[in-house]
Amino acid sequence: NERIPSPDMLPDETDEAGIRPGSLDEFVGQPQIKETLAIAIEAAKKRGESLDHILFSGPPGLGKTTLAGIVAREMGVGIRSTSGPVLDRPGDLAAQLTALSRGDVLFIDEIHRLNPVVEEILYPAMEDNCIDVMIGEGPGARSVPLPLEEFTLVGATTKIGLLGSPLRDRFGLVFRLNLYEVADLVGIVQRSALIMQTPITPDGAQEIAKRSRGTPRIANRLLRRVRDFAMVRGDGTIDGETADRALTMLGIDSLGLDDLDRRILTVIADDFGGGPVGARTIAISIGEEVRTVEEVYEPYLIQIGFLKRTPQGRETTEAARRHIRLF
Ligand code: ADP
Repeated sequence: NERIPSPDMLPDETDEAGIRPGSLDEFVGQPQIKETLAIAIEAAKKRGESLDHILFSGPPGLGKTTLAGIVAREMGVGIRSTSGPVLDRPGDLAAQLTALSRGDVLFIDEIHRLNPVVEEILYPAMEDNCIDVMIGEGPGARSVPLPLEEFTLVGATTKIGLLGSPLRDRFGLVFRLNLYEVADLVGIVQRSALIMQTPITPDGAQEIAKRSRGTPRIANRLLRRVRDFAMVRGDGTIDGETADRALTMLGIDSLGLDDLDRRILTVIADDFGGGPVGARTIAISIGEEVRTVEEVYEPYLIQIGFLKRTPQGRETTEAARRHIRLF
């Protein structure tokens, strides 16, 4: 059961090479982030130094991984990618760090999920380009500093609040990605459609963009589904009406909400009298993980003013209650 907002890669997304932007110029929107990055990159290149460590935070699908790749490409260096939960033991991180060539990027996705003992190794690596390795065991064990090549750590996190300050403070550049405006999503849909050689009208792009929950990954995902629909039920061109019919068929409403969003809202509004109710209770009621509810579903519901986070829990708004009554 594949959900449209899912942060996981869907099978037909593995061939992303063509669609994923490869340079800052191709990256749509986020003008401040792009400008700051462009300046930092140019300055580092002029000085012949590696780039400062960079942290990207924000909900899934907004371009954090893409930007890590762009940074490496624009710096003309290699990139190694891994993620917090994969780096289980200190040796796993040491292996990644020692494999880097001078100036390379090490990308750690979900960096807030690093094991604390692994995180400790990162501090001297980020600060002094060195790690301490333990030689021997028991009472005779001693720690020996091992120098590393200069490198740039690029971290990505969906939950910056879970990152301790010792780690956060070691990043020279910290960027927060917010959900995208519809106009930017229109640009992303048009760009992807062009690469996929799919004819699309401005109305078609607008309809998909409006229903993409502010998220480029979802915009591309919806575009693929609508493209299939247009090829089978129409002449292959995506116009506003085709997009609307295809997305409605997929259970995606005019605001981009799917049935899980509507269930979250209904649980709070009907079963708990509008809230406040804790995220854990909501997650249990709809049979999803708390993390999915908090990181994947809530940001958009909050952004469109349907959900409020209070210290006591989540509450639905009047606008949300009006919207779900329509279904
Ligand atoms: P994250 O790492 O934040 O979860 P990704 O970098 O994997 O997100 O982005 C998901 C997909 O969305 C990418 O494959 C890319 O095709 C697309 N994308 C993200 N941001 C942009 C953007 N600003 N412009 C164009 N495409 C984008």
